[in-house]
Formats: sequence, C-alpha cells, structure tokens
Amino acid sequence: MSFKDLKVSPELIKQLSAADINKPFPIQKATLPNAISGKDILGRGQTGSGKTLAFGLALLTRLSGRHAAPMRPLALVLSPTRELAMQINDVVAPLSRSVNLNSQVVAGGLSYSKQIQALKRGVPIVVATPGRLIDLIQKKHIKLDDIEITVLDEADQMADMGFLPDVKRILDLTKPGGQRMLFSATLDKDVDSLVKKYLKNPVTHSLANEKSTAGNMTHHVLIMEQSQKDLITNQIAARKGKSIFFVRTKHGADKLAKRMNEAGVNVGALHGGKTQAQRSRVLEAFKAGHTNALVATDVAARGIHVDDVSLVVHVDAPENHKDYLHRAGRTARAGAVGTVVTLATHKQRKGVHGLAARAGVRLNESTVRPLDANLIKVTGAAEPSGIPIVTAQGAKSEGEGRSGGYRGSRSRGGGKKKKSRPRPHERRKRPR
Ligand code: AMP
Repeated sequence: MSFKDLKVSPELIKQLSAADINKPFPIQKATLPNAISGKDILGRGQTGSGKTLAFGLALLTRLSGRHAAPMRPLALVLSPTRELAMQINDVVAPLSRSVNLNSQVVAGGLSYSKQIQALKRGVPIVVATPGRLIDLIQKKHIKLDDIEITVLDEADQMADMGFLPDVKRILDLTKPGGQRMLFSATLDKDVDSLVKKYLKNPVTHSLANEKSTAGNMTHHVLIMEQSQKDLITNQIAARKGKSIFFVRTKHGADKLAKRMNEAGVNVGALHGGKTQAQRSRVLEAFKAGHTNALVATDVAARGIHVDDVSLVVHVDAPENHKDYLHRAGRTARAGAVGTVVTLATHKQRKGVHGLAARAGVRLNESTVRPLDANLIKVTGAAEPSGIPIVTAQGAKSEGEGRSGGYRGSRSRGGGKKKKSRPRPHERRKRPR
C-alpha cells in the first residue's frame, strides 16, 4: 500500500519521496484513510512508530491551500513539551509549504514576539504546549473558534505532567464538531476521561505490539555491588553508539554528567532546570554526535526524539512502570533495534523485576562487575579515556555547561529570566 492509495495529497507525496519516505509505516496505513476523511482517531502507538506523519499528513491533506484569519488558526497540535513541539514542527513545516500552508510553534521558553507576530499574520497550523497556549489565549493573541482539527500527541504524558485541566480548557474553546486525534502510549484513567469527553466514536488503532517498535527492544537487569555502580556506569557511557542515562532528579543528572565528563566521556545533561537555549544545545550536540550520551530526568526526556539511540540505561530505577516504558521508548525507534538496561543491586533486584512485569516486559538478568564479559556483551561497555572533558572556555561547570561547551562562545546560564509561570510538572517534581 502506498501513500497515494491512502489518499495523501500528491504534493505531499512528492516532498516525502524527496526525503526518501516512500512506504507508509503501519500506524500511517491504519490511521490515514480515516483521519483524512475527518473521523476522530484514537491511536495507541509507541514513540518512534511514525505517528507524527500519521496525523501530520492527515491534517496537511485536509487543510491543503486553506487560509487562516489573523489570530485564528485552523489546526492545533498539542504536545507535552516544547522540544516535542519543535520536533513536530520540524516535520510539519517543510511539508506544509508544498500545500500552501504554514505552521508556528507556540511554546514556553521561546520568544513571545515571534509567536505573536506569526499569529497576527494568520497561520493555519499551530503546534503548542498547553501552558504558553493558555497564556496567549488569556492575552487575547489567539482564538480557537476556527480550530477544525485538534491533535493531542503523547496525551498520557500531558496527563502525567499535570496538564489535563489546561488541555480540557483548550479543547472546550475549539470549534464544536471539529476533528480530534489523540495519540498516547498508554490509555489509563486520565486519558480515558479525555477520550470519553472529547472524541466522537473514535476509530481506534492500537499498535502496542507492532514489531517495528517494541519487538526490537531487548530488556536487561544488571545486578552489581553498590560500590561498583559509578565505575560501571562510566564504562557503559564510554561505549560506541548513542546512549541515554536516566536519573530521578535534576541534581542527580548534573552530578552524573559531571562525573562522566571527569572520567573522559563526553556527555550532556538534560533537565527542567535548564533554559530552553541550554536544552536545545545539549540535544543538538547529542543528535550531531558531539556527545556520546545524555543524562536525563524523566520530564526532560519526554522531548527526546532521536532516532539512533541504541541503549537506554535506568541508572535510578523508574518511579513506576509507565516511566519505564516512556524511558525505554527512546530507543528502538523507527524499526531500529535497541537495548534497555536497568542497573540494580542485589537488594533492588526483586523490585525491578516487579516493575518490569507491570510494564509487560521480561528482563534478562546478569550479574556484572566492572568491564567483565557480561557487561561488555550486554552494553558494549569500554574503558573511558580518563582525560577529563573541559568546556571550550576551560571553565569548570556542572553537567550541561561542559557538554554544551563545544559551542564555546555562546553565553549560558545567566541569560534572561523566563517570564512564563512554573509548569505544573515542575511544581509536582519539587522535593518535598
Ligand atoms: P515518529 O514516531 O513520528 O517520531 O517517527 C519516528 C521516525 O520515523 C522519524 O524519524 C520519521 O522521519 C520516521 N518515519 C516516519 N514515517 C516513515 C516512513 N513511512 N518511512 C520512513 N521513515 C519514516
């Protein structure tokens, strides 16, 4: 089956083909015909399954050539994080031009004036995070009465991050009878409340067991002595290939990144305590391969959509099985293979197996010591160089400062204070 058979606009097919995207992925085959005909869609797909194009091609085909009145967009894509919003827009924007449309990101941590100017000119597609969108609605820079298509991407994460009241408020402002598409990796109580209230007889597509995503992931628990954990973590980070290390707190992320950099592994730290500019720089360095690894907290990781991550490491165990799956979903994207590893002491072993079982995952267990055969076999661990990584300025700084250092001349940290109010998940994550 081709994109043409799925009734995607010919101009878009041409653009896709130029990007070497010729055959639709399963989620696209499953959702596009219904989505293009205007039906509500409920998609359960792991991240990396190709859902951005699934909803993107539908809304671009449907709105092809349409104009939006000033401040009144026609389609709205809601995303939990600004990084994801920007990545969705990176996919949608180039395609939109071929069908005489354009799009704008509306998200916190980015310039207000650019967003407001674009809305004033009239922009058909807005890709937004709930917080900034509400902000601009309150300041009367945007009206949602003309919204015909609303997409909720990663709806479960929006719910987890405390955005549900904002999301409902936004949906209540959109045109009644408009099309709604909701994508979520899990469909628990919160997401179900959205589905029940806002989707009309949705066509449901569940791709939870698609081979192109979850089937290509192998899961391991590595049992080790607590006293050897730091050394082993550094050795895993020194492997070839892109890895993401998950920790629970911002402070923990900075500390681990600092320690890895001191051991000679070039890594960046990504967490909610950094400015947007810092986060973008860390992510770009990782994507471009300037850094081998990312150390991330759960919240920050929600924006990480990098295709060739071959290993995810739970350094701190995830809080629950949902976090396990979200973290794991950063690897084995777009049909690639990936390994997910949880580090545990003998004492933590049972708890880790229980959590994995709740996530529907069976763990291969090995006991490991620094650079032993098991550790190398599962993770590709290697000896770090031992030569500390320093920033271009030679300044010693925490976590991101070092990793971001390859762009040396840019200032960081002490930049302008953000005006946006604290987001719900930040309030939630603050230590009690
Ligand atoms: P997503 O789940 O939307 O983040 O997509 C994951 C990756 O798959 C992205 O890098 C897309 O460019 C890629 N992708 C999506 N659909 C296709 C397709 N039909 N053929 C090839 N690559 C695709």
